[in-house]
Amino acid sequence: MSSTSEDFNEVLSKSKKILERYALCDSCLGRLFANLGYGLTNADRGRAIKTLLLLKAYNSLHGITDENLAKNLARTGFKPALTLLQAKKISVKIVMCHLCRGLMERIEEIVEKTINALKSYEFDTFLVGATVPQHLAEKEEEIWRQYKINTGEMIKSELTREIGKQIEKQMHKKYDPQKPDITIIIYIGDTGEVSIHVNPSPIFIYGKYRKLKRGIPQTPLKDDNTQISVQTLIADPIIRAAEARGAKFHAAGREDVDVLTLGSGRPFIVEVQVPRKRTLNLKEIEEEINKNARGIIEVHGLKYVSRSMVAKIKALAEFAKKTYKATVEFEEEVTDEDAKKIEENFRNIEIKQRTPTRVLHRRVDKVRTKIVYWIKVEKTGPQRLTLTINCQGGLYVKELIHGDQGRTKPNISELIGKKVKRIILDVVDIEEKT
Ligand SMILES: [Zn+2]
Repeated sequence: MSSTSEDFNEVLSKSKKILERYALCDSCLGRLFANLGYGLTNADRGRAIKTLLLLKAYNSLHGITDENLAKNLARTGFKPALTLLQAKKISVKIVMCHLCRGLMERIEEIVEKTINALKSYEFDTFLVGATVPQHLAEKEEEIWRQYKINTGEMIKSELTREIGKQIEKQMHKKYDPQKPDITIIIYIGDTGEVSIHVNPSPIFIYGKYRKLKRGIPQTPLKDDNTQISVQTLIADPIIRAAEARGAKFHAAGREDVDVLTLGSGRPFIVEVQVPRKRTLNLKEIEEEINKNARGIIEVHGLKYVSRSMVAKIKALAEFAKKTYKATVEFEEEVTDEDAKKIEENFRNIEIKQRTPTRVLHRRVDKVRTKIVYWIKVEKTGPQRLTLTINCQGGLYVKELIHGDQGRTKPNISELIGKKVKRIILDVVDIEEKT
């Protein structure tokens, strides 16, 4: 429809009109026409438009041909116009930019502040976001509406882009909005004050632990953070190494306080929160955990994983096959008959379990169905059987044995008609299928 030169004249005449009404800095003027030119910043663009307008306002043949225009340019702080008017002894007062109130001229200062805030963090990739005062965005949209501008860019995107470019250049880091190691948020307050918030993404470290001593809970009790737990023994050295604020501990299920986890161990992931260091020597950390734990627990196979693994090991807790070893002391003598009966009856069988009485205070009361694949039984004393139980994850094994007053059905105690006195339980294998 219209030729490019007409478009361009329109840019100039619109700019002239806008500057009659508002003093705009180079960036804020250029940002209204953000699609013009190539490889230019908005400030370059704004300066170019001002330069062309100055060509209209003055030529050496006729002198100042449009004094108002020259003044409007000068009051934005545009140097050539200021120099010209000074030479002609025409005084002009510089006015603060109507839109950004000088913010865009402080980009260098903001970049410096940002780089300072980033200094103590290790990262390769980053993302920059910004929040600007509502009134600023509103003023900008008002100008777009008034002068029918559909080529404008939001101040927020210019701010984040320019700061991002500088971080890439000065710190040699990569802008990556998909998977940033660190997210930088620039907050611009109502009166232009700037604060920088730095938020490193968590890192996820996978491993397996064996619990070799009874009496240690998996997580610390709620009101006692000095208590030794599997979680603190594993997470604390990682938190220290990563100079992190804290960590979340995700495990593929949990064993009771009095239960050991043997075999190849239980998979876990430590989600390290607000880490300053991301490249950790996992081999060294593994050794440190094992040394500090003094045989209470043992970890191995530490490696970095992605966030999606957290859901996978949680699913593992529910469905993966587990093998337990239970040494069961009965209140009366047991026979080889009992042993045989258990082996024959508990083969690929569905167990219906109501939430055990001992966990009712923290779990909802419902019926779970879990499968026992097989049980191997050995008579190891007059009143003692040693059971190897292969079952679906999430089965309450102690209840499978003593029956929990009929809340678990079928159960071993009921099958052989003998009461259980004591159970010593170990997890000997957690099958890992991911
Ligand atoms: Zn401005």
